[in-house]
Amino acid sequence: MALTPMMQQYFTIKEQYKDCILFYRLGDFYEMFFEDAETASKELELVLTGRDCGLEERAPMCGIPYHAAAGYIGKLIQKGYKVGICEQVEDPKEAKGIVKRDVIRIVTPGTLLDENFVDNKRNNYVMAVTSHEEWYGVAFCDLSTGEFQGTYVPQNLSSLHNEMSKFTPKEVIVTEASLGEELQKKWNVLVNLRELDDSLEKGSVQNYFKSLSGGYNRVVASASALLLQYLEETQKTALTNITHLEIYNTEDSMALDINTKRNLELTENIVDKGKKGSLLWVLDETETAMGSRNLRRWIEAPLLNKELVVKRLDAVEAFYQNLNLLEDMREALKGVFDIERIVSKIALKSVNPKEMVTLKRSLGKLPMVESLLKQVDYGELSRLSRKFDVLSDVHKLLEDSIEEDAPLALKEGGVIKSSYHKEIEELRNLKQNGKRYIAEMEQKERDFTGIKSLKVGYNKVFGYYIEISKSNYSSIPEGRYIRKQTLANAERFITQELKDIEDKILGAEEKLADLEYTVFQDIREKVENEIERLKQTARIIADLDCYQCLAKVARNNGYVKPQINEDGKIRILEGRHPVVEQMMKKGEFVSNDLYMDGDKERFLIITGPNMAGKSTYMRQTALMSLMAQIGSFVPAKEASLPICDRIFTRIGASDDLAGGKSTFMVEMSEVSDILLHATESSLIILDEVGRGTSTYDGLSIAWAVIEHILSEIQGAKTLFATHYHELTALEDELYGIRNYSVLVKEVGKNIAFLRKIVPGGADESYGIEVARLAGLPKNLLARAKEILAKLEKKEKKTTKATQKVKEDPGILQMGIFDFEKDQVLEKLRSLDVLSMSPLDAQRILYELNQEAKDVN
Ligand code: ADP
Ligand code: MG
Repeated sequence: MALTPMMQQYFTIKEQYKDCILFYRLGDFYEMFFEDAETASKELELVLTGRDCGLEERAPMCGIPYHAAAGYIGKLIQKGYKVGICEQVEDPKEAKGIVKRDVIRIVTPGTLLDENFVDNKRNNYVMAVTSHEEWYGVAFCDLSTGEFQGTYVPQNLSSLHNEMSKFTPKEVIVTEASLGEELQKKWNVLVNLRELDDSLEKGSVQNYFKSLSGGYNRVVASASALLLQYLEETQKTALTNITHLEIYNTEDSMALDINTKRNLELTENIVDKGKKGSLLWVLDETETAMGSRNLRRWIEAPLLNKELVVKRLDAVEAFYQNLNLLEDMREALKGVFDIERIVSKIALKSVNPKEMVTLKRSLGKLPMVESLLKQVDYGELSRLSRKFDVLSDVHKLLEDSIEEDAPLALKEGGVIKSSYHKEIEELRNLKQNGKRYIAEMEQKERDFTGIKSLKVGYNKVFGYYIEISKSNYSSIPEGRYIRKQTLANAERFITQELKDIEDKILGAEEKLADLEYTVFQDIREKVENEIERLKQTARIIADLDCYQCLAKVARNNGYVKPQINEDGKIRILEGRHPVVEQMMKKGEFVSNDLYMDGDKERFLIITGPNMAGKSTYMRQTALMSLMAQIGSFVPAKEASLPICDRIFTRIGASDDLAGGKSTFMVEMSEVSDILLHATESSLIILDEVGRGTSTYDGLSIAWAVIEHILSEIQGAKTLFATHYHELTALEDELYGIRNYSVLVKEVGKNIAFLRKIVPGGADESYGIEVARLAGLPKNLLARAKEILAKLEKKEKKTTKATQKVKEDPGILQMGIFDFEKDQVLEKLRSLDVLSMSPLDAQRILYELNQEAKDVN
């Protein structure tokens, strides 16, 4: 059997787009066939049917109406698929045989533009990687804003991960399959394997990015070329919104590993991955989508250069100190819509008339923004003010040309102002006056013939006509009318005059629609020519919005401008956790001080009962550090902070079940990653290291980790929370350690959490008290107390052993086991054998025997 011609066409096209779900246009539907149909029917809950295709079996098929396609496409993209849109590309009337079809666009997770599926508060990046001798070239693009950045890193995975962490791309293009697999595993991104077309590297990259040549730029150029190649492959149109490549320096911003981002809940909370409860949630008081995206980027890539940090802090301070300015700026920015994304749509030719009006209104706010900006002739803000372009020419063009209430769809008409274009005005008059002409003519003919019921009507087949009822037939003047149609009780006629008017009216409508279309395209192009200026202004708005936002948050929440020091010391007076304090009533959060240097107080061991506030204290320190480096004020009364090159965290028992690793394995690989990459300027947060394994195992590992950090990563500042009280003994042993604990108060049988961090180690863990607060049954708690008492009796003896341990930590475990043997001996020694009954003797012998067995 032979395939039907349509199926032949389908297969020819599908062959070129194997990695896409192909939406094949058939009339008013997009149809999917075979595997695509099976996948789509499952993912979109569509009914799977079949279609004769010339083969023995019917082709599995499912379809969706074309007008509802956007929603379905969005869903598939969110599930990580790519969709190829295959349209009829010739007029069916002119087609010989089967209508020609082709893929006109490929929609992918990293290039999706549909605003219903792309959050306007975050960037959507696609990334390309190429290898070059010992380097990786890396390029990132957000197609929806036209941002294009590139850099190069040493050819190792960890450097690559660092850069990815700054952009969190949705999709990656690689030239090596093995690299693709690594990235897929770690980031769960859609990976595309492509070959780099050499001619492209030279040709189109040079066209796009004129400055690229030689040296490291070549590495960046190849990644950029690969990325452009992919964008052209998917968009199939000129990418005029990509105007320049920004080559950035990897050392300008901090890489935050996935764990740290997650543990510190920077942009989403750990529980449900929502924004609420994250640092971004607290800080995002931006007024524009551009500002909101920018803030997220700042949080995900804090600065490492002191001058740049101070510049941002100063700009925030300018707004912080002037409340009127701050509120006026917020008011002005409120009316500025997403210029960046509208501009990209202009470039990709998908902008609609309403968006042009939105752009105009946004540009209309710029003079206000500019005059406010001029008021603060200060540092970074005066630099922005000098570069600020209010684009009054573009605003005037849009104001003059586009109707204020222009519709969404261009073909509905009413888009271009009559005053902008003479011919449009004339055509519109004709169209409107047409009705009047007809009415006038009707009256004229009635007067002439004396037939009161004469009327002029319209139908699609004959156009305009004069209708006269049969009863008046005799009154028709000879030769005046041309008969067109006979009905049961009426006759229809036309006249030359009527035809002339008809031509004008009908022609006007068609002409008007065509002309409005052409003029709109012309205006679009004129705006497109100013794209670089528009993008620059959008960037400035984004920065400005972040500055005012951080000032607003600082005022609302009582933050202070941190000093950025070079002595490497962290000094925080009355510090708070920015997120936890927001979850509480005002004033409920207990503030705490912190002092660390890179020297004798560089390692804080924090002990205290469960729920005391250890984790919170450590996180707030990391968060304040990070906030300062994005240019934000911090939740404290006073703060002086050094620039950290990295912030590492290992917090809680996060179970990476999906990754197939056990908790302990995850914990250890996180610790290992920290030990490998931390430097003397890093801030390390270790929370309960060693918890995931047995006590002695855990204790020994924690111990060794402390020693390692102190000796191998000298200068690094570490906060270390632990429930192993034994570790507090290290303060006297090792240089650099300070013990702290969280204060609790015993009130009768209860304990009260005071949340105060004080010098010195805690000696009890109050775990049972916490368990009681949590409502465990009374008899269970009583039994736990019994067990604890027994264990503590053992431990008292251990303390003796720890004296020795201080000289030689290696003997710790030995000491504990020796002690248990001692206990059996002790018992034996204390027995009064002669006064024992045989029954007692047997019982005691049995117990001793059991205990002796337990020792091993
Ligand atoms: P730990 O790590 O010692 O077990 P956490 O840091 O997780 O304790 O704190 C437990 C809870 O106590 C937090 O969820 C928070 O509600 C509260 N808490 C912690 N620190 C403070 C503080 N400084 N002021 C007020 N409440 C706090
Ligand atoms: Mg904790």
